[in-house]
Amino acid sequence: MALAVGCRARPGKSRDNITGSWRVFKPVFDKEKCTKCGLCMTLCPEGCIHETEEEFVAPDYTYCKGCGICAEECPGEGIEMKLEEK
Ligand code: SF4
Ligand code: SF4
Repeated sequence: MALAVGCRARPGKSRDNITGSWRVFKPVFDKEKCTKCGLCMTLCPEGCIHETEEEFVAPDYTYCKGCGICAEECPGEGIEMKLEEK
């Protein structure tokens, strides 16, 4: 979704604003590199990374805004930011 110059966004929770709708890059998790430290879950500003049964962690792309903090801080370099394809 393109944002117009000078646009305003209403304040509110990510659940209301669907923060994943303006993502340009998306984090792709590599479970082979994950050391299960949990740092990404702690640092994600949207709180959208959760434990799963198949992989240790996975993001909810509905609310992931693509900030890249998880990829930057992952000690095992197990998260890669890739250009979103919509
Ligand atoms: S920060 Fe990286 S290594 Fe740690 S749980 Fe998240 S994906 Fe796994
Ligand atoms: S890119 Fe940002 S919002 Fe998305 S899962 Fe990583 S830390 Fe959370």
